[in-house]
Amino acid sequence: MALAKGYAATDASKPLVPFTFERREPDDDDIVIDIKYAGICHSDIHQARNEWGNSSFPMVPGHEIAGIVTAVGKNVTSFKVGDRAGVGCFVNSCTTCKTRDVDLEQYLPGLIATYNGFEADGVTPTYGGYSDHIVVKEGYVMSIPESIPLDAAAPLMCAGITLYSPLRHWKAGPGKKVAIVGMGGLGHMGVKLAHAMGANVTVLSQSLSKKEDGLKFGADEYYATSDPETFKTLAGSFDLIICTVSAGIDWNAYLGLLKVDGSMVLVGAPENPVPVHAFALIAGRRSLSGSAIGSIKETQEMLDFCAKHGIAADIEVIDIKEVNEAYERVLKSDVRYRFVIDMATLN
Ligand code: NAP
Ligand code: ZN
Repeated sequence: MALAKGYAATDASKPLVPFTFERREPDDDDIVIDIKYAGICHSDIHQARNEWGNSSFPMVPGHEIAGIVTAVGKNVTSFKVGDRAGVGCFVNSCTTCKTRDVDLEQYLPGLIATYNGFEADGVTPTYGGYSDHIVVKEGYVMSIPESIPLDAAAPLMCAGITLYSPLRHWKAGPGKKVAIVGMGGLGHMGVKLAHAMGANVTVLSQSLSKKEDGLKFGADEYYATSDPETFKTLAGSFDLIICTVSAGIDWNAYLGLLKVDGSMVLVGAPENPVPVHAFALIAGRRSLSGSAIGSIKETQEMLDFCAKHGIAADIEVIDIKEVNEAYERVLKSDVRYRFVIDMATLN
């Protein structure tokens, strides 16, 4: 066992504090990564505060990890010491299946979460990226292209793939009108990715305060949802709406913005159920769906797409001692557009 340093939530109602814990010794299939940067995803906050009701403590959050490989087991062929490595929301899968479904593994019951989960033995907790190093099985580590700075690459491991996957699945591209609801960590990546895929992109944000940034990220149009006129002007406009909002909204009003046969996809995961009127769907043969992150294979594809199109996250790099303040700012939608912890500040 190797000692690791990090920050943990010890209870749903307490701030994160410095925390020392044990990481497993790497086996022949493992990769050891010196964590350089970890993004702060809103899911970290939901879980640190037990808003989804499934939290176990102490919890070291963090599933947007970028770092450098410091050791590899003897069976590892895809990484060597010194390589740039990324880890996202899960560190193992198919623990209940004979073969790995590389395309849809994020939906498997045997998925092992990077934190707030248990290793394959069912008892050893997994601890996440707000820490100095991590041990991950080969096959669950992404290669970060050289052209993407490590700090701006970290948020791609969750925010990037969570938008890339539904945009691809619902075929965002030329001729498609796509709306991104909420321009936070996930949303700003959605704007950049959908634009790079060739779709016509509209941002639906609470206000116009981030409009200039939205247009810079590639949005064609930008509307404030606080203005009731927006819902009249845009009624029946979109092929695809991706909702990244972390709280409850007027779901029926947003469904009314879809064309006939349009789809609204939830990636935001609010605490409370989503009440939808049947006629909001029936009236236009509309669909309401959800989407979770993406497979390791698709995450690597997304990273290569980002490298090709010069895309990365817009970030605010922080000292780990500022993590609790950063959580409060995320809750106020006061982040441009992802906080990333500089892990050198742990020392
Ligand atoms: P974030 O940075 O806080 O962004 C959420 C955005 O939603 C805010 O920036 C804000 O955008 C908008 N918003 C917040 N509160 C709102 C309210 N009361 N009414 C209307 N709009 C509101 O969070 P994030 O990290 O992008 O994560 C967003 C959600 O996705 C979280 O629930 C997270 O747990 C979930 N998530 C899901 C997956 C998945 O696989 N499905 C993966 C990662 C995260 P504006 O300021 O532009 O209005
Ligand atoms: Zn996340």
